[in-house]
Amino acid sequence: MWTYQHTHFKVHQIPALNDNYIYIIEDCQSDIVCIVDPAQAHIVQQACQTLGLTPTHILNTHHHWDHTDGNAELVQTYHCQVIGNQEDAKRIPCLSHPISANGSFTLGRLHIQHMDMPGHTLGHIAYKIDDALFCGDTLFGGGCGRLFEGTPQQMWQSLQTLANLSDTTQIYCAHEYTLPNLRFARAVDPHNKALKQRITRDTQTRIKKQPTIPSSIGLEKQTNPFLRPLNPAFIQAYNQENNTCFDALQVFTHLRERKNNW
Ligand SMILES: [Zn+2]
Repeated sequence: MWTYQHTHFKVHQIPALNDNYIYIIEDCQSDIVCIVDPAQAHIVQQACQTLGLTPTHILNTHHHWDHTDGNAELVQTYHCQVIGNQEDAKRIPCLSHPISANGSFTLGRLHIQHMDMPGHTLGHIAYKIDDALFCGDTLFGGGCGRLFEGTPQQMWQSLQTLANLSDTTQIYCAHEYTLPNLRFARAVDPHNKALKQRITRDTQTRIKKQPTIPSSIGLEKQTNPFLRPLNPAFIQAYNQENNTCFDALQVFTHLRERKNNW
């Protein structure tokens, strides 16, 4: 488990399953404890016991089992409330507080903003508390989620919403996929110096069995191939290399298809 201090809350990062991360958000000035995407209940229970915390809320980003499997048992154990997109009311187990895709609410001292992120699934949302972003399977270190339900256009729009956040925003995504993602990034963006430096640094991090997450919006804009189409120079170079005349959305779509077959 790793812990990160924000202004008035802490984020505890717990590895789960093969490559998932579950996050515990601890409000330092109230009893509010939010669990983001509990893949496995017993892992959350162990961590909460160690930390002396009692979960009060679950925040689900989307309905996939590796983000919601722990809901039922945690509700049973802690009587916590489950928050998620009202559009996925039938697909998120034990959802007690359905919310709209865009909006905000406050728990204790946590002002939680939620944003519509269609693409990976149609009902996917992201949560943002100050400079901490919980974006589930939308944006990853060096990559983005697969398009299981949404269109490339929807995902590209969602990613642009995230790219517009402050560069210092910390990205707490739901999987440790960074190194395999960066190998693909190197293949499609071979002259990117920031990317080369990141590969060296993140490889060392993984050798030490440390997480490469959280990442930041600034770093992703420089090195993530799925945000690079925001840069006209990248689009130009990409078109030259591939003998195409794509716009930003078309480059994104092409990259997503190539990654699917990578
Ligand atoms: Zn998913």
